[in-house]
Amino acid sequence: MLTVTQNFDGLSERAGHPQEYLVDMHGNLFNLRCTNVQCNFRKIDFDPNLGTSEVPKCPKCSALLRPAVVWFGELVPYNHIVATNEAIETNRVDLVLCIGISAEVWPAAGYISEVVKRGGKVAVFNPDSGTKVKCDWFFKGGAEQWLPIALNNI
Ligand SMILES: [Zn+2]
Repeated sequence: MLTVTQNFDGLSERAGHPQEYLVDMHGNLFNLRCTNVQCNFRKIDFDPNLGTSEVPKCPKCSALLRPAVVWFGELVPYNHIVATNEAIETNRVDLVLCIGISAEVWPAAGYISEVVKRGGKVAVFNPDSGTKVKCDWFFKGGAEQWLPIALNNI
């Protein structure tokens, strides 16, 4: 089961979701990457609890390191787009769970309609009934309330 998440809090990883089936579209706050665009240094499982005098620097080029997340205005990593598109285009997605999202942030917002075009179903879990996502099932309320019930028989 492929999970495409916009969360960058590492929750899926900590919940034991297999990395090979996870696309963290907006990166992971607990990973670092170099600010030098010509450097490919990355570090995973970084402890973000450090003081301002401890700003981490790249061991390869000495540039500053930054959280490996996608900030507003930055592009989603190309390999994440490719992995998600491939899953959708090969009809491996028959159900999309939209959990607490506005479905207004692209490219993830576009994936819902792409799955629907291919016959997939949509379930929305959201405390806000004003969501604009057209869905087959709507669960009004928090994910902690509905997901255990909805996924109990899967
Ligand atoms: Zn570097």
